[in-house]
Amino acid sequence: MFSCRDVNDKADLLAGHKLSPLDRLQLHLHLLICRNCRHFINQFEQTRQILSSRQWLQHDADAEAEIIKKFSHFFVKRDI
Ligand SMILES: [Zn+2]
Repeated sequence: MFSCRDVNDKADLLAGHKLSPLDRLQLHLHLLICRNCRHFINQFEQTRQILSSRQWLQHDADAEAEIIKKFSHFFVKRDI
């Protein structure tokens, strides 16, 4: 069965559906007993989906400028 480190090391392979059947089984057995790794895998997948869907924002300069304008009050000027 996988350790937590194995899950961490192979998360990208799981997301890319590149795990062997044996590794997939070992990973899922570990996820049954480890809440921390279940949380990690869920966060990893959500992050991957957000990053892959962000591509459309990179091509919309007007939307990006509007977002920066709307949230500019969150930025605090600091003297360094
Ligand atoms: Zn774990």
